[in-house]
Amino acid sequence: MTQQQQEPGSTEPVIRRRQLQLDDPLQYVGGVGPQAAAALQKLGIGTVEGLLRHYPRRWEDRTRFMRASDVRGGEYITVCGAVRAVSTSFPRPRLPITRALIDDAGSAITLVWFNQPYLEKNLRALSATGRQVVAYGQARRNGWSVEIQSPEWEAIGDDGDTLSTNRIVPVYPATEGLRQGRIRRIVDTALRLYLPHIEESLPADVIARHGLTDLQTAIRSIHFPECDADLERARRRLVFEEFLVLQVALALRRHANVAAERGVALCSDVAAVEAKLARALPFALTGAQERAIREIAADVQTGRPMNRLLQGDVGSGKTVVALAAMLMAIESGYQAALMAPTEILAQQHAISLRRILEPLGLTVELAVGSLPEREKAEVRGRIGSGKSEIAVGTHALIQDGFEFARLGLAVIDEQHRFGVLQRQALRNKGTRPHVLVMSATPIPRTLTLTLYGDLDVSVLDELPPGRKPITTHWKPPEKRGSVYDAARRLLQEGRQIYVVCPLVEESEKLQAKSATQLCKHIAEEALPEYRVGLLHGQMRPDEKDSVMARFKAHELDVLVATTVIEVGIDVPNACAIIVEDAHRFGLAQLHQLRGRVGRGKHASYCVLIADPRTDDAQARMDILTATTDGFRIAEEDLKLRGPGEFFGTRQSGMPELAIANVIDDLDVLLETRETAKRLVEADPTISRPEHRGLHRALARSSAELDLATIS
Ligand code: ADP
Ligand code: MG
Repeated sequence: MTQQQQEPGSTEPVIRRRQLQLDDPLQYVGGVGPQAAAALQKLGIGTVEGLLRHYPRRWEDRTRFMRASDVRGGEYITVCGAVRAVSTSFPRPRLPITRALIDDAGSAITLVWFNQPYLEKNLRALSATGRQVVAYGQARRNGWSVEIQSPEWEAIGDDGDTLSTNRIVPVYPATEGLRQGRIRRIVDTALRLYLPHIEESLPADVIARHGLTDLQTAIRSIHFPECDADLERARRRLVFEEFLVLQVALALRRHANVAAERGVALCSDVAAVEAKLARALPFALTGAQERAIREIAADVQTGRPMNRLLQGDVGSGKTVVALAAMLMAIESGYQAALMAPTEILAQQHAISLRRILEPLGLTVELAVGSLPEREKAEVRGRIGSGKSEIAVGTHALIQDGFEFARLGLAVIDEQHRFGVLQRQALRNKGTRPHVLVMSATPIPRTLTLTLYGDLDVSVLDELPPGRKPITTHWKPPEKRGSVYDAARRLLQEGRQIYVVCPLVEESEKLQAKSATQLCKHIAEEALPEYRVGLLHGQMRPDEKDSVMARFKAHELDVLVATTVIEVGIDVPNACAIIVEDAHRFGLAQLHQLRGRVGRGKHASYCVLIADPRTDDAQARMDILTATTDGFRIAEEDLKLRGPGEFFGTRQSGMPELAIANVIDDLDVLLETRETAKRLVEADPTISRPEHRGLHRALARSSAELDLATIS
């Protein structure tokens, strides 16, 4: 199973003449034609190395052979034997069914294929020569007989070696146009040719100290493990490597930041900023806010560009901290920008910043996509000339043509809603402005430190005083009537309420339709004596604004909305939120929605109308009624959804990990964090000869990491 490729007109196998290299295109691997190459390319696999690093999603132990008489039905089994009888029938004109009887030491099992009549010829040939086949699949009992439909199977070769059966078999992430057995054979071929050319990526002393398997063994065993222990060792080694590369990249970045070119030094007078803030705000800062503000002041004074993450649960008062940071920039003669993910949120920020900053003689501009062109041009002009100090906006802020005269600080709200590239674009608007990113997605602290190792983190772990706790109830749909009765009592007391309509995943249009229907029902039947407004994603921006403004001004009592209200909306007089079909929402999303209330001096309520059909949904309802602690909810969410989804690139900017799992492998993550620190301290450019392999691994993943870490 080596040299299969020949150049036209040559009898010399190609690979004899050239050195095999891991970045060889896949076609160099025997058995990979254009079609297979294209299918793999769709997964981003273009080289031999990419293929060997394409780890199985799971493994199946197919060493369990079974006799037909022992099969109960439903279990996955492996059978092995000679092909006895082959037939194809047509129960329906266009549905050929091919059957082969396998004689497994006197116990017969039927293999069944649909719509693959061409198999018959193959099978007959096997039957004629008496060659054995091995097959794997789910057994079905059919009276006395046992069959496997659409099995994975192959003929046993002369050497008795099989890839897909009779062993622990790798199962790869599904690939359109490429069957599992095919991928296995391609990987097997690639391993035979290229394994000796794989260069160790970890320094020898790290391998020794942590008792790790060498890379060649690990790569071999991750695809084709001999036994469970073998697989476990391989996995641990590759997890370690993946985390170490990530941690070294973060350590390097932090190291580079510390030595970075100078940005602008801001805020020589923290006390003056604090005094100004105190005069402007109707409340005293919380201890956590004060701490965060001082941490920011310390950063921006150095003149080294700040790169700070401000984490705080919904309602913890992040906006005020951002405001303080903006004042620091403005006091020093620079401009500040605040970027929010939605127009509604940008509007709201603009309104509340204007309320505080205009009395101080400062101008806040709003830059959103829906502005008429002429106004947009005016805003651009005033920011570009430096006439206005502050720009609040959506991604309109980072579009071409929007230039700042002297941007000193960029604040990014609800950072998980922006791609890293958008954040980077805002940063590029100035001469290295300071950057503050704010997030209400609480991430367990160990993970923040380990995954955002290049960011400094401030945490608002304290809610402003006087907040009434939010009481959360979970009610079955039959109790809906009494829920709206209770809502009516709150409305009579002069409060306002939100109603969130069921989530329609399929389309924005359907979502809008369901919101409209629910609104109609509430306005006409459930609460006809009150003023009901509607807010959904399909409305025009100016319509949305006007509804939001009317709700804020208490010209509306009830706001029926989709999840567009999920982020940031702040109406202190709204003290109840009713979530219809709550079981359809994710935990984090429900927590965010609940954060819309409990912002004023009134006792607040969150009512989840839910009919949870799954354990998972049930668990979500239980957690929400049990706690309002965002960090605890985040941890539970992580457990329920698994890190893949929790740290989906969209959510957090995390790279997709190929094999490591931040929860299960947390101990390894912490180990690598220490190791990375030591490595970078000793060799800040990772360029010593003994770090050659590591250097290469870093280069290989740097493209991903650039996209993955906030910078
Ligand atoms: P989030 O962290 O969710 O962005 P906001 O910044 O919107 O929170 O603040 C939530 C509410 O709390 C706002 O109405 C804000 O005015 C108020 N607030 C912020 N800080 C304090 C404080 N120290 N004391 C009282 N209220 C505060
Ligand atoms: Mg906010």
